[in-house]
Amino acid sequence: MAKISSIEGRILYNSRGSKTIEVDIISDEKFLGRVCAPSGASVGKYEAVSFKNGKPEESLKILKENSSKFIGLESSDLETIHKTLNELDQTNNYSGIGGALAFAVTIAAVESASKAESRPLFSILSNEKSFKFPFPLGNILGGGAHAGPGTPDIQEILICANGSKTIEDAIATNLSVHKELRKVLEKEDPNFTNGRGDEGGWAPKLENHKALELSAKAIENLGYTLGKEVSLGVDFASSTQWNEEKKKYIYDRAGFENSSEEQIDFASEIIDKYKLIYAEDAVHEEAFEDMSELTAKFPNTLITGDDLTVTNKNILQKAINSKSCNAAILKVNQAGSLFDALEFAELANQNHIRLITSHRSGESTDSQISHIGLATKSKMLKVGIVGGERVAKLNELLRLTEHDLICGMAEL
Ligand code: PEP
Ligand code: MG
Repeated sequence: MAKISSIEGRILYNSRGSKTIEVDIISDEKFLGRVCAPSGASVGKYEAVSFKNGKPEESLKILKENSSKFIGLESSDLETIHKTLNELDQTNNYSGIGGALAFAVTIAAVESASKAESRPLFSILSNEKSFKFPFPLGNILGGGAHAGPGTPDIQEILICANGSKTIEDAIATNLSVHKELRKVLEKEDPNFTNGRGDEGGWAPKLENHKALELSAKAIENLGYTLGKEVSLGVDFASSTQWNEEKKKYIYDRAGFENSSEEQIDFASEIIDKYKLIYAEDAVHEEAFEDMSELTAKFPNTLITGDDLTVTNKNILQKAINSKSCNAAILKVNQAGSLFDALEFAELANQNHIRLITSHRSGESTDSQISHIGLATKSKMLKVGIVGGERVAKLNELLRLTEHDLICGMAEL
C-alpha cells in the first residue's frame, strides 16, 4: 500500500474569487493527489467551519506545522488520516483547523492512493462491484444568496432529465434546457443581459413564480412534458428568508412575508404546480416538524435536507427519527473530512434516504465529487450546468463512461 511521502498546501482562489486552500499529497514520492476546497454562500448554521478564525492562511499554517504527522500513513487509510486531523482539532465543527483543510487533506490522500493503485477514485471509496450514474441536477436560474437584487428570492431553479437512459443524454438535455431558457428570457425581456449567478444559472430580474413559469416553458418548448422526461427542482434555501425574531420568512424581493404555515402552503403550491421532482430546504434549517409535513404530503418528490442536515450524521439521525426528509444533500465540506461524509452516506443509505452529492456555489475546477457521488450511490449529482468549474464535474462523468464497472442510471 502506498504511503504518504509529502504533504503541502497553498492559498488559491475559488470560482467566486475568494481565497481558499489547496493541498497536495504525494504517495511513494510520485503519486500526486491535489484538492482545492470549495465554499458556500448560503451556509448552514451547523456545518463545519471552513477556516480557523475565518482565515485560510491560519488553516494552512496548521498544516505546515503538523505535516510530519501525516508522513508515512497509508494514503488509502482514510480512518487514520481522519483521526490524525481530529487529534489536531478537538472541536465538533472543525473550527480548530478549518473544515476546508479536513476536506482537502482527506480527498487528496485518497486521490493519491487511486493513482498509486491505478484504480479510479470511486472504486477506492467503495467495495461495490457495480455502480450507477447519478442524474445530473443543474441550476438553470438563480436568485437568493447566489445572485443580485431583482432576481427571485428562491435560490435555485434546477432541472433533472429524469427520463434519460444514459448519462450522455442526461447532460446534453440539461445543457439544451439551459440554452433554451436563455431564449425564453430574452423574449420576455429584450434588455436581459444574459447575466448568470454564482453557479451558472441565469439571473434575470423576475419574481419567483414568473421564473418558474419561464423555466417550465423552456422545457416544454423543447418538446418535453414537464415532470415526465424532464423535471424541475427547487432549492428554496429557506433559511436565507427566515427571520428568527419575527418568526417569519421575509421575501424581500417579492415583497411578502410567510408564517411557518404559509411557508408550507407556498412550497406545496410550487411543488404541485410545477410537478417538482426535487424540493430542497423548503423550510428553514431547524423546522424539522414542518419538513415532516412536506415529506408526508409529497412521497413522489425528493424532499431534501441541505442546511437542515448539513452532512452531519447526528442531525441526519434526528431527521430520520422525525421523518423530516426522504433525501439529503451530501457536501463533503459541510461535514469536514471525507471520512465524516462517508459515514453520513452510510447512514442515509441504510435508511432509504436518497443522496444528492453536491458542489458549493464557490467551487474549484476539481472533479472528485463526481467519484464521490458514484461511490455513495447518490441518486443525483448537483453540480450545475455551465461554467468551467461546473462542466469539470460533468466532463468527468463522461470520461467515466469508459469504465465497465458503471452501468446505467440510478433509480430515482
Ligand atoms: C446550496 O445551497 O445547495 C448551495 C450549493 O449553495 P451554497 O454552496 O452557497 O451553500
Ligand atoms: Mg441548498
